[in-house]
Amino acid sequence: MSEPRYGPAIPGSQVVVLSRPQCDVCRDGTEAHYDAKTFQGPWAFLCEAHFKTWTLGRLGMGVGQRLLTPEEVGRSATGRRV
Ligand SMILES: [Zn+2]
Repeated sequence: MSEPRYGPAIPGSQVVVLSRPQCDVCRDGTEAHYDAKTFQGPWAFLCEAHFKTWTLGRLGMGVGQRLLTPEEVGRSATGRRV
């Protein structure tokens, strides 16, 4: 059995998702790139633009996580496109 290697990661700052959810703010199919705590309190899936405007823009445990697909993780870990 082989476990996928996701390369070096900052603990608590990113999470691997099999499919990218849509931004909870846009709600028009815009892909979310972050799961983060908003100024309003609740966590939400956010696109790049809303991550910048609705949160402090920080990543980490209890603050926000970057959403990565397995493809993106593999790419950044090996440094080449698959
Ligand atoms: Zn958005």
